[in-house]
Amino acid sequence: MPQAAPIAAVAARLRSALPTGAVIDDPTQLATYDCDGLLHYRVSPALVVLAKSADDVQLAVRACVEHDVPFVARGSGTGLSGGALPHADGVLIVMSGFREIRAVSPRDQRAVVDPGVINLAVSQRTRPDGYYFAPDPSSQQICTIGGNVAENSGGAHCLKYGFTATHVLSAEVVTPDGERTMLGTTAPDAPGYDVLGAFVGSEGTLGIATEVTVRLLRNPQSVQTFLAGFADCNAAGAAVSAIIGAGIVPAAIEMMDALAIEAAEAAVSCNYPPGAGGVLVVELDGPEHEVEAELAAAEHHCREAGAFEIRVAANDTERQAIWRGRKSAFAAVGRISPDYIVQDGVIPRTALPEVLRQMGELAAERGVRVANVFHAGDGNLHPLVLFDEQVPGQGDAAEDASGAILDLCLAHGGSITGEHGVGSDKAKHMPKMFTEDDLDTMQLVRCAFDPQGISNPGKVFPTPRLCGEVPGKRKAAHPAQQAGLGEVF
Ligand SMILES: Cc1cc2nc3c(=O)[nH]c(=O)nc-3n(C[C@H](O)[C@H](O)[C@H](O)COP(=O)(O)OP(=O)(O)OC[C@H]3O[C@@H](n4cnc5c(N)ncnc54)[C@H](O)[C@@H]3O)c2cc1C
Repeated sequence: MPQAAPIAAVAARLRSALPTGAVIDDPTQLATYDCDGLLHYRVSPALVVLAKSADDVQLAVRACVEHDVPFVARGSGTGLSGGALPHADGVLIVMSGFREIRAVSPRDQRAVVDPGVINLAVSQRTRPDGYYFAPDPSSQQICTIGGNVAENSGGAHCLKYGFTATHVLSAEVVTPDGERTMLGTTAPDAPGYDVLGAFVGSEGTLGIATEVTVRLLRNPQSVQTFLAGFADCNAAGAAVSAIIGAGIVPAAIEMMDALAIEAAEAAVSCNYPPGAGGVLVVELDGPEHEVEAELAAAEHHCREAGAFEIRVAANDTERQAIWRGRKSAFAAVGRISPDYIVQDGVIPRTALPEVLRQMGELAAERGVRVANVFHAGDGNLHPLVLFDEQVPGQGDAAEDASGAILDLCLAHGGSITGEHGVGSDKAKHMPKMFTEDDLDTMQLVRCAFDPQGISNPGKVFPTPRLCGEVPGKRKAAHPAQQAGLGEVF
């Protein structure tokens, strides 16, 4: 049951300070915010605040602290693990209207942006000066920098350039106790703990970013993109290993299987090689002479692995056409299945053929299909588990297949998430990767930021049991406590 009194008090406090319309408690409007990109978890928040500044965020957090009300930050709500799923008794602080690019300093290769700035907008603004922002989630036309920081988001070009963490120099943060602080520095390195490093990827559990200084990269002198068609994903996987084994680090190597190609064709007529059971999109960038040499070598490795067709983009239009199929693939799957779950797991690249084979088997056993479209270069899989909610039992079968895929990734030495975070969706899988002591150690960090446990509670950790939350399994003191090194709140 919603805690009417604290929420009413928070609402009254915020209404007295914020413009009309910035505080929403109408149930119909609240329903707009009841999920993120993980559509099958839905919770209406008790209150929504449309933040436009760091002051607004701080005001909202302080009101929540005062009345012990949980809060959740939301960027564009494109997250795929339920990280921005609201708390039924809490406040959803929406950051998407807080979006100004405050400063661009090409010579220092950095930009200072509001958290609600759209990822692509940073590159659009800086490209004419010769720079861009490297992390490029496929959702980059809509997701926010704040969401990218919270999820440590990746993207096709992160194989070569690294995830968001590599590209954030500093962040102003409203901490869960309502203070405002700066993490990181714009200097190349800083003494002391890497607190910014802990914040990036913490999925909104350590506070809310209210300003981010991002690193800009120089536009490459030359870019070459090609599409290679293979009979199946095994052959495509062999090409990936051969390219990287030869010492080439492409800007991107993306793979799609037959089902993903079918979906993309249905949605955007991308005209991928007919009959391909697997395609690779390979992009090389850098100095022109280097790119030309790498292009020849990468093409050679693809042909050796069995590519029956290779198309090198002759210009930017052809390059965009190659990428169109890949970039639209997630949404395109809606063309071939009424419902789907986007899974996210990582495996060592070399395990690709075996994992894809076993994935096909476990899906068939459960009566669902899996389409694969993923960042093959770094072993970051995105199996799309297709199902029909209207068919009794299919939703559960898809959930089951989705969990089994993560087990498969772990069995092959991988991880339960590559770039989409843990959120609400995968919290239950965390004990498969981490011991209880590991998880408690993470909780100690979290408690240091958020002793009340009100910043995005219920996310990331399976059984919240510290910071005065639900009592859990631990019977004895944490080893850090026993050693006199830390306190479990
Ligand atoms: C079609 C599609 C393709 C995608 N492709 C990729 C991909 O290639 N790579 C990839 O990594 N992801 C991808 N994603 C996932 C998603 O876009 C990213 O996780 C993105 O970073 C989320 O940004 P957002 O603004 O939508 O955040 P939201 O979904 O609103 O929030 C995500 C998390 O960030 C927290 N948060 C939001 N703003 C802040 C803030 N200012 N301070 C602190 N915490 C905050 C929220 O509480 C939540 O935990 C894709 C999603 C879709 C729908």
